[in-house]
Amino acid sequence: MQQHTGRHFLQIPGPTNTPLPILAAIAKPTIDHRGPEFAELGHEVLAGIRTVFKTGNPVVIYPTSGTGAWEAALVNTLSPGDRLLMFETGWFSTLWSKMTKCLGLEAEVVKGDWRTGVNADVIEAKLREDKTRSYKAVAVVHNETSTGVTSDIAAVRRAIDRAGHPALLLVDTISSLGSIDYRHDEWGVDVTVGGSQKGLMLPPGLSFNAISDKALAASKTSGFPRAFLAWDDMLAANANGFFPYTPSTNLLQGLKVALEMLHDEGLNQVFARHDRAANATRTAVRHWGFDIQCVNEAEYSSTLTAVRLPEGHSADELRREILARANMSLGNGLGPLADRVFRIGHLGDFNNLTVAGTLSGIEMGLKARGIPHRKGGVEAAMDILGGNWPPAARAAE
Ligand code: PLP
Repeated sequence: MQQHTGRHFLQIPGPTNTPLPILAAIAKPTIDHRGPEFAELGHEVLAGIRTVFKTGNPVVIYPTSGTGAWEAALVNTLSPGDRLLMFETGWFSTLWSKMTKCLGLEAEVVKGDWRTGVNADVIEAKLREDKTRSYKAVAVVHNETSTGVTSDIAAVRRAIDRAGHPALLLVDTISSLGSIDYRHDEWGVDVTVGGSQKGLMLPPGLSFNAISDKALAASKTSGFPRAFLAWDDMLAANANGFFPYTPSTNLLQGLKVALEMLHDEGLNQVFARHDRAANATRTAVRHWGFDIQCVNEAEYSSTLTAVRLPEGHSADELRREILARANMSLGNGLGPLADRVFRIGHLGDFNNLTVAGTLSGIEMGLKARGIPHRKGGVEAAMDILGGNWPPAARAAE
């Protein structure tokens, strides 16, 4: 193993780099999870997390990875045998639909091309055809982490409304929450699923369900047996700032600081920072002469960019070279995109120089691997990254 100096560049699309103040909070002594200090922490994080989902309704926090919150969204609202409408946007939407099968649900999955997002017109047409109202839910991924495609959730809501269909809307925001604008209440989402390890800048280990009134009502008649993931016990304990079982105390201590950091920066500034990083990254990729996996500009993800290498060049070899030489991790291609694409994460805790450094490492790797490209992608990106500096600062340089 080569010895590296400096910090590792963790530029995968999650888990993301955890800032020192959050690490320090996690490293604080564990507190009594049934004591008054914990109740204060519980109240604070349960209230603070709502602002990130943009909801006035309860948000449940599980000590699980995001997959646990996927399952919770399904088993709390549906019954075995229920039909769902899902949309294949990539690897993660596919995994979620596989889970529905394991649970004995019946998902109809609209085929996708892994380069575009959810087509709301198709959702509307499918729901209009469903005269018996057999679909109990529409479940989609907001930001498909395998492809770097962000779907328009407000458009999905409008499609459901236009069809006059009562299906619940379940949305996965695991790689968009706290990084790309998302509005649980305004967009009429019934269950939003989130995770700690991406935009929230925490290590993996917490996941979330934001719950609408309609979803809560559905949970009263849902036929799935459930215990650990049941909302009712959780919500009852949460009302007093507690959890029905031992919570991830230290991750919650970290979550408190993560929420403070996001609120101090301001969510709109956080979103703008991600937009700028994504724009700079795409500029470099185009300059190098490569295709972006996402083909619709309106659906470009602000949290990651999946880059297609020219035929005959291995994305995994490039990633291996960059890891060995520059101590930087980039995301691999998933499923049919294995070795075909690599994914650049630009989410969570980063600044302009993190992005410039990431792109520099890639450009050096392209040269080292002899992958044909146009030099100067980093310089092109720098014009965008520096573009937000005030003119005085630029003039003074
Ligand atoms: N959904 C999306 C969009 C994801 O990116 C991921 C993980 O990267 C998951 C679901 C699964 O979450 P986890 O790996 O935390 O269980």
